[in-house]
Amino acid sequence: MAGWTISDAGCWPLGTFDALRALPDVVHGVTTREGPAFGTDALSAATADAAAATAAGVGLEAAAWVKQVHGGTVLRVDRPGLAGQADALVTDTPGLGVLGRSADCPLILAAGRRGDGSAAVGFAHASWRATLAGITAAMLDKLAFEMGVRRDTIHAAIAPAAGPCCYEVGAEVREAALAALDGGAAEFFQPHGGRWLFDLWAANLAQLAAAGVPRERVALSGVCTICRGERFWSWRRQGEAAGRFAAVIGVRPTRPG
Ligand SMILES: [Zn+2]
Repeated sequence: MAGWTISDAGCWPLGTFDALRALPDVVHGVTTREGPAFGTDALSAATADAAAATAAGVGLEAAAWVKQVHGGTVLRVDRPGLAGQADALVTDTPGLGVLGRSADCPLILAAGRRGDGSAAVGFAHASWRATLAGITAAMLDKLAFEMGVRRDTIHAAIAPAAGPCCYEVGAEVREAALAALDGGAAEFFQPHGGRWLFDLWAANLAQLAAAGVPRERVALSGVCTICRGERFWSWRRQGEAAGRFAAVIGVRPTRPG
């Protein structure tokens, strides 16, 4: 889909979005199965090593990540490493990436500008439970209210994730969504046999729109990890054998001198 590119120029393939490349002081990227090998455990040495390698691969000095728990909590960070239990991180520290890990769940990247012109960034891990908890809206609120980012300056992108073609859920998930999300949540579901296809991309696009992010500044990769399980890790395709790919975003490091 428009505005999403995977480059083979580096040590491993790296996906980027035009919408975020438009900000010269922000760097970002999305890895694939060929990229650094994250552990499934947030506390593992493999995850720390892969986070460091991913940060370096996009031109950042280090990265912060979280134990992702499918909720609505956003943390602000100013140092690398495991930041705690949450599903979104924001930062304005130059050189520090905030990094999410996925095997099907949408990872949302965002960057915007404060009144003094400086940038702040964030990511959200928008699993279905975290989406119902409003994680993308909460991340945007943290950027706006706590960090002073003007909402009309925000650029955002939704990384490859389980798509509306494949992401099948039971009636209990639809009922939970109808209860948790404001009117209109029914449009995110299509009947599929006795079950439902849940369009998590549309549900998170709606949170971005409701938060005042201009639609023309929001990019959707349009790549389904279940369809494209050979390129991106997919819990639905690989089950317990699934690794994790990552999306990272940060403010470009300031060079001394
Ligand atoms: Zn699909």
